[in-house]
Amino acid sequence: MKRRIVLVVFAASLLAVSLAGAEEIAGLPLHSEKIGDGAIRVWIGDHVSSTSIVAFATEKGIVVVDTFGVPKIDAELRKVIARELGRDDFAFLINTHEHADHTGGNSVYSDCTIVGHELIADGLIEIAERRDRLLEWYPGRIADLEEELQGLETDDPKAAVIEEDLIYNRLVFEAVKAGRKLVPPALTFSDRLTLDLGDTTFELSYIGGMHTASDVAIFVPEHGLLLTGDTMADVWLTDRPGCLAAFMVRDGLIHDFPRWLANWDLLLAEKERIATLVPGHWNGELSVAGAEARVEYVRTLWNGIHEGFEAGKGLAEIQAEYQLDVRFPELVESPGFTPQQNYASITELWKEITGQPSAARTLYTLLDEGADEAAIQEVLTNNGSPGYFFSEAEINAYGYIFLQQEKVDNAIRMFKINVELYPESWNVYDSLGEALLSAGHTDDAVTMYEKSIVLNPENTHGKEVLAGIQGDETT
Ligand SMILES: [Zn+2]
Repeated sequence: MKRRIVLVVFAASLLAVSLAGAEEIAGLPLHSEKIGDGAIRVWIGDHVSSTSIVAFATEKGIVVVDTFGVPKIDAELRKVIARELGRDDFAFLINTHEHADHTGGNSVYSDCTIVGHELIADGLIEIAERRDRLLEWYPGRIADLEEELQGLETDDPKAAVIEEDLIYNRLVFEAVKAGRKLVPPALTFSDRLTLDLGDTTFELSYIGGMHTASDVAIFVPEHGLLLTGDTMADVWLTDRPGCLAAFMVRDGLIHDFPRWLANWDLLLAEKERIATLVPGHWNGELSVAGAEARVEYVRTLWNGIHEGFEAGKGLAEIQAEYQLDVRFPELVESPGFTPQQNYASITELWKEITGQPSAARTLYTLLDEGADEAAIQEVLTNNGSPGYFFSEAEINAYGYIFLQQEKVDNAIRMFKINVELYPESWNVYDSLGEALLSAGHTDDAVTMYEKSIVLNPENTHGKEVLAGIQGDETT
């Protein structure tokens, strides 16, 4: 399969008539690639995972897909598109999804009809609400990158990567500070929309629910192109694929998996007419087989969890049955698949299918609010309907969140709950030992580490901690 992707890229670069040369925008190298007759893809950067903007010359004007996200850069890129296509009759801008690195330059196309899924508007409101947090976050991020860069020799290949990251983050920070206007699409749809622009057709399909609530795919049959936004990629061209690394079922996103599966099936049924899939960032690629494998992955989980739940299985049993290396060995090496992401996806699908809320999350909230023991016990006795689901890993994770927040008592309580629920698990004792140690309860910590090592003699980390404590005591 890899060979085929290479051929596609090679064919595409043969078509590229050296459009941009050594041109730069804001210090980032400009790339422009011809991907069809009257169709181009432009982006800036050699390392940073920036958005790739696709533009089509059609009978009824230029159609642009997505923006870089920083208006002053998008104004420059708009000029590049006009120059490369030899015209400037911009008519439509389509957003593949709500993320600001795709929509943040919409204001530059306010003379065009902006098209996108109906949920983009809500997504943009949320992004606007996060502005204060971003204003706080970026200076720290920029300072970290500056420090990292200073620590590197100029000829270190990593320096070029950090330098681009720095430029990129400064650009976005500047745009957020300046109050970048987030313009929602004016022409929206729920499931499907076709734009007939004479010689070119744009078939938009809703496929949201994984990357964002508002993801769409755009099929352009005359060019044999399927634009897939940030939904998935099976080849990463850099080790920082950004948004393209995020193929998993997410908490807090609007989900409709039967619809997600049906829409992907409809798209992939057109595979004979699809020559190239184009992800939303330049540093990822997607093959038909890669897309099919990902759709089948979601289908397997969706159906398997339904069947397992109906058969009376619990989440832990399902997690064991659908471990990445057990159930999907062919995906273990595939970009975007990690055991953690798989675990999280299964948990989210479980919640969706069973309607059960997470005990871990509820306990975390209760403890954080200082709720009394009766409230905790009510969750632990699980008398509600449909009742909570319990996940050892999730309770453990929330314990560590408390620990990070330096709420050690809550961390200890959380880990103790795990010990009560999963007394056969070595890891719950190890975690409790860690929390007890940080609270200064050394003797109790030692007991927990010892218990953990009895259950798992391979727990070398636990042995090291114990040796450390005993070393301290003898000095
Ligand atoms: Zn994205």
